[in-house]
Amino acid sequence: MQDLMEKIVAWAKRRAFIYPASEIYGGMANSYSYGPYGVELKNNIKKLWWKKFVQEREDIVGLDGPILLNPKAWEASGHISGFNDAMTDCKECKKRFRADHLVEKATGQDLEGQLDAMTEILQKQGIPCPNCGKSNWTAARNFNMMFKTQMNGVDGDVYLRPETAGAIFLDFKNVLDSTRVKIPFGIAQIGKAFRNEIVAGNFIFRLREFEQMEIEYFIDPEADWEEIFYHNLEAQEEFAKELGLPECDLQRYEHPKDKLSHYSKKTVDIEYKFPFGFSELFGLAHRGDFDLSQHAKFSGKKLEYFDQKTNRHYIPHVIEPTFGLDRSVLAALSAAYVEENLEKGSRVVMKFPKKLAPIKIAIFPLLKNKEELVSKAKGIFELLKDDFMCEFDDSGNIGKRYRRQDEIGTPYCVTVDFDTLEDNSVTIRERDSMEQQRVEINSLLKFFKKNL
Ligand code: ATP
Repeated sequence: MQDLMEKIVAWAKRRAFIYPASEIYGGMANSYSYGPYGVELKNNIKKLWWKKFVQEREDIVGLDGPILLNPKAWEASGHISGFNDAMTDCKECKKRFRADHLVEKATGQDLEGQLDAMTEILQKQGIPCPNCGKSNWTAARNFNMMFKTQMNGVDGDVYLRPETAGAIFLDFKNVLDSTRVKIPFGIAQIGKAFRNEIVAGNFIFRLREFEQMEIEYFIDPEADWEEIFYHNLEAQEEFAKELGLPECDLQRYEHPKDKLSHYSKKTVDIEYKFPFGFSELFGLAHRGDFDLSQHAKFSGKKLEYFDQKTNRHYIPHVIEPTFGLDRSVLAALSAAYVEENLEKGSRVVMKFPKKLAPIKIAIFPLLKNKEELVSKAKGIFELLKDDFMCEFDDSGNIGKRYRRQDEIGTPYCVTVDFDTLEDNSVTIRERDSMEQQRVEINSLLKFFKKNL
């Protein structure tokens, strides 16, 4: 499976999906750019998510809040005091690691938050350094994961948001006052988040700059929260399947009661079988009234809801489904990557669900130096480009062009050949079955509207 990861990383660079960032300057630790096809894929995932959770939902509205919030917001949310991971340094090779991860790997114990206990195990049990193999650890200590910066007009530090959710709570009252939302309702947001992870890695799985898609769903504290919770969990699993992830590679992990934050009634992660094993893809948490109460306390503003149906004032409770966008991309890539042996040779084919495919239709003139074929193919590009992301390709033989499109997951290729000039029909070739059929140019738009 690790082999699959290496193949995906190499394929992603070669095929313009994901590049190591700042490469000409020697790179920048674990940061990546989405290339021409990668950005299409990522945007398609965002569109799919927005459609499912905002457009098709009467009870959810969108928001696009800023990355930099008033620093008081992070005091209120507990991020300044408590958004820490435990780190330890190897005194021999100077490499830095997550102390809790080293201990858990060696002993199976989850000692999150217990620095002394971690230090004792690291030092007394002689846990070896994964880098140099020696065992000479500093004491485990807390490291705050928020990135700090300065802003003109603001005294002291400001922070890059470590999650998108914060801005949603700060605008809860604005949304309430300016729209007709009624409890239960959600506010959804897609955007960048920043975490100064002690160890980033596994390609785009753990980044320091990443994107999240999050919903804060506000409910009556007396509502049947479990029903709403599981309804959300199922919607998250449905979305995972829409990304092309097989059900057998998804699992739920419920956080044990004694590990839950004091305000949470339940937290469940949806894990996907990435090439390096099952790990968190999405999360779902019941957050009680913690966030709104804290922001009310720190801001001095009332963040209550007046329920006209029951004539009650209350601070709503919150169910929070959260989705990692980069992890969604990685999961979709891992699920789609297929190597197939064919009668003649082999091919790599990305079997993306059609909605995710970066290019929907590739259009080829059989020969690049035959003006009639080229202009006919260009005409088809013009015909389809309004509705579909298309690509015109006239380089190399047709077999090579098919392979190139298979490798980026294009569902359909259209070839203009000499018969086209006679019968005004083209050959459509389907990615997965590789079957070909003739379709009249006049019917192309209808064909693709039906099949894409
Ligand atoms: P992990 O346990 O893997 O560090 P987390 O529990 O801290 O994740 P959350 O705080 O629940 O993650 O964040 C919500 C979602 O954001 C996660 O489900 C994940 O998909 C994504 N995410 C979190 N941290 C990162 C990261 N460093 N890089 C990429 N995606 C991330």
